[in-house]
Formats: sequence, structure tokens, C-alpha cells
Amino acid sequence: MKSGTVALVGRPNAGKSTLLNAIVGTKVSITSPKPQTTQFSVEAVYDDPKRGQIIFVDTPGIFAKTDNPKAHDINFSAEHAIKEGVDVIVYIVDKTRERGIEENKVLGVIRKSDVPKILVINKTDKRHPDFIEQYIFLKEEFDAYIELSARTHTNLNVLIDTIFAFLPEGEKLVDSDGLPTPILNMDSKLFLEEMIREKAFLRLRREVPYAIRVVVDSIVEKPQKNMTVIKARIFCPVRYKKMIIGSGGVKIKEIGMMARRELELATNRKIFLDLKVEEE
Ligand code: GDP
Ligand code: MG
Repeated sequence: MKSGTVALVGRPNAGKSTLLNAIVGTKVSITSPKPQTTQFSVEAVYDDPKRGQIIFVDTPGIFAKTDNPKAHDINFSAEHAIKEGVDVIVYIVDKTRERGIEENKVLGVIRKSDVPKILVINKTDKRHPDFIEQYIFLKEEFDAYIELSARTHTNLNVLIDTIFAFLPEGEKLVDSDGLPTPILNMDSKLFLEEMIREKAFLRLRREVPYAIRVVVDSIVEKPQKNMTVIKARIFCPVRYKKMIIGSGGVKIKEIGMMARRELELATNRKIFLDLKVEEE
């Protein structure tokens, strides 16, 4: 059996998401609080009971704008990610768009890595416009070359076969069903605080500014019940307290419910979230 991580790189609109959806069907993975098996966020998992497991990971920032003063750091981290942590690189290009300066940048990053690289020309179903000539010669520096259509699924199987051919032998790296199963513990505290805060912003939007703070006090596993009990508090200036609680507690309930649902989906466990509002 084989298993490993695959970085799918390509500029925005190249068709990465379409390709992933085509490969793993409707299963879309959730960002886990702490991906335990890879240092990247898992985008999708392709499980094949006979051949093994392909984990598609996200390498953030590789196409970041160059006028960003932090661009250097971002490039460095993308480079590092590609160098250190992935088993195969799939570089996806959109043949209906002209090669831009961005492509040279990503090629620069890819060239520094020693792992097998697959060049994928996407959107073969679309005849015009066609800039394939601007990309096809790149195949010389790749280990494999595939023309496919993520939309019509043409040649997807060839891509899967090729990835498996390059993946190392190994055991499954993440739980089945295409979803990484994060375990919540005190290490996830920061993640939970951010997540609850995000839900609060969604529910309260304009009404409440950045004046709130979330603190997770405890995360307790109840293995007999396959349940995790989380206690958290939202701290806010006194003038916002009523707003956050809502009439009859309706707002805080909504916030708690949104956070709880997302966590249940991500962890595949029952979550009990005890969420209170306190003034500070
Ligand atoms: P991403 O930004 O790389 O994730 O690109 P998306 O997957 O979001 O795709 C960008 C656009 O290209 C969407 O409108 C897709 O429907 C379209 N697209 C993706 N793959 C194909 C393809 O194989 N053929 C055609 N014609 N369009 C595609
Ligand atoms: Mg996308």
C-alpha cells in the first residue's frame, strides 16, 4: 500500500478546486485544528482500498503578490513546504490563459524541490483560446506530463495512476471518509478561541467591533459518551453584553450552535459547548 502528500500548485483559476472535487467527489475536507499527520492543511483525501491514500495539501502563499512586503517570507514558507514535506508536486496550468509572470515564480519554487513533479495541462475540453504552446515545452523538466479536463473528468484516472506510481510505500496517514479527524485537547485552545470568535463576528457583524475576546477554560473528553465538553467565555465591554447575549439568549445560542456544529463535523464526536458572556 502507498500513501503520501501531494501539493497541488497552480495560479488562481487554474482549476485546482475543480480537480480536487472531481477526484474526491463531493467529499470536501474541513480544516482541522491540528493536522496530525502533515504540517499543512489537508485539502482533500483520495482513498483507494487497494492502492492506498493520496493526501492533497495546501501550500499557501505560493502565488502571493510580489508587492507585498512579506512576499519574501511567504515565498520562503512555500518553498520550505514544497521542499520538506510533500512527496509529489502536481503543477496545474490553464491552457486557455497566457503564461504570466506568476508562472515563472512558481516554476522557480518547484525547481528547487527534488520530489517527483507532474505537469498537468487543464481545460482540454475548451478549444479556444489555446495557449498550450506556451506550456508544453515545460514537460522536459517534469517527471510526467498529462493533459486533462477537470470539468469533464477526461484523463483524471491517468493522473491518479501517475500519482500512485510516484508515491512512497506507507500506511494510511489520515482517517477514512476523506476527513482528517482532529483530536481536541488543550493544544487546540487557540484554535477554538479563534473559531468561536469568528462565529461571533458572523452573527454580530456590524454591531460589535473588535472588542471581544474568547477564552477557552477547559476541554474535557468523555470517552464513554464519545463526547467532548468545552467550556468557554466571551469577554466584552459592558455595553455590548446585552447585544451578544441577545433577547432571551438567542444570539449567544446561535454563536454556540454554529461553533458546535462545525466542531462535530470536524471531529466526528458529540460536542457540548458551554459558552458564557462576561463583561470585562
Ligand atoms: P482554482 O482557483 O485553481 O481552484 O480554480 P477553480 O477550480 O475554482 O476553477 C476556476 C474556473 O475554471 C471555474 O470557473 C471552473 O469551472 C473552471 N474550470 C476548471 N477546470 C476546468 C476544465 O477542465 N475545463 C473548463 N472548461 N473549465 C474549467
Ligand atoms: Mg480554488
